Amino acid sequence: MFEKVTAAPADPILGLTDAFRKDPRTDKINLGVGIYKDEAGQTPVLRCVKKAEARLVQEQTTKNYLSIEGTEAYGRVVQKLLFGAGSAVTEAGRARTAQAPGGTGALRIAGEFIARQLGGGTIWISNPTWANHRAVFTAAGLAVKEYGYYNAATKDLDFDAMLADLSQAKAGDVVLLHGCCHNPTGIDPTAEQWQQLAKLSAEKGWLPLFDFAYQGFAKGIEEDAYGLRVFAEHNQELLIASSFSKNFGLYNERVGAFTLVATDAAVADTAFSQVKTIIRANYSNPPSHGAAVVAMVAEDAELYQDWLKELAEMRDRIQEMRTLLVEKLSSRGVDQDFGFIARQNGMFSFSGLDKDQVERLKNEFGIYIVGSGRISVAGITKSNIDALCDAIAAVI
Ligand code: PLP
Repeated sequence: MFEKVTAAPADPILGLTDAFRKDPRTDKINLGVGIYKDEAGQTPVLRCVKKAEARLVQEQTTKNYLSIEGTEAYGRVVQKLLFGAGSAVTEAGRARTAQAPGGTGALRIAGEFIARQLGGGTIWISNPTWANHRAVFTAAGLAVKEYGYYNAATKDLDFDAMLADLSQAKAGDVVLLHGCCHNPTGIDPTAEQWQQLAKLSAEKGWLPLFDFAYQGFAKGIEEDAYGLRVFAEHNQELLIASSFSKNFGLYNERVGAFTLVATDAAVADTAFSQVKTIIRANYSNPPSHGAAVVAMVAEDAELYQDWLKELAEMRDRIQEMRTLLVEKLSSRGVDQDFGFIARQNGMFSFSGLDKDQVERLKNEFGIYIVGSGRISVAGITKSNIDALCDAIAAVI
């Protein structure tokens, strides 16, 4: 029977990583996949994570299954990061959190919950967005529509297009929003725009689903939750998919969370019982280790401060690379204005490089960038930035 199966197209980003691995050039640079690299080009285990892991190994007494939704401590920590300490949502018992295998796992739970329990409606995703969004929601059985987001001419948010498209979203439709550090553009709504979006959502009755994969990478843990917290003030119901892959550097431990906010505690319990049914039929119960690390770091005052410091180091290094990239391109006589790169948030930048330029960077210089021109700024270091700028100047 297997002979009849046709080959699936390679994942565009992971396929790029494969091509990068096979490239024999020693000066090659991978700016495709969204993984943080330090100044030495490494993706190290955070120091706070190492400390927590050592303690966990000492204290662990069993490898027994977790419950379907994971540990209480983890749920508490996730909600505190999302809504702030002592938030109204948490105090009223309106939120329920399930530990999930990565942000992707959390998005899939959200997709299936919407498909099975909310009438299987339409989900609106930004154009552009993280490539896996469409795949995850389509696999869950949802119809996917796009709303405008990026203005290629101004290299900024096309807020008018976003509002115009979202004003067509019907009551009961779901709208996916990136909590911060929009992937792939690096452009987030301003505080006023978040306010406007939250009001529109409440007025129109569409359900917001926040994808929160980069909390702490724009300005800080509290600052980056601004948009979500504005929505939590205006909306009775919310869904959130969290990921700790990037901000804890726990990529391969698969640490994410699905959070549901309902009008009251009783409704939250009933809705969450269906979420547990979905999880049970998918992977039964979540992996323990990564989430235990996150819970330990977040609940220990000293480790928490260590984490904030390490997160700031990652954020500041990326910001420094953004500024340097702009300066170095300009000092090479590139007259195209790249100033927007320094104003964007998070790991990514929509560089404006076209498909041919991206192809030339790969073939002639061993520099790997996604076809859309999205650069993972987190992969730039002081040792590869000059070669990168020389190459960009040569293909422009
Ligand atoms: N959402 C966005 C916007 C992402 O960029 C990513 C990862 O790149 C994810 C979700 C998935 O995160 P995870 O690796 O935790 O599944």
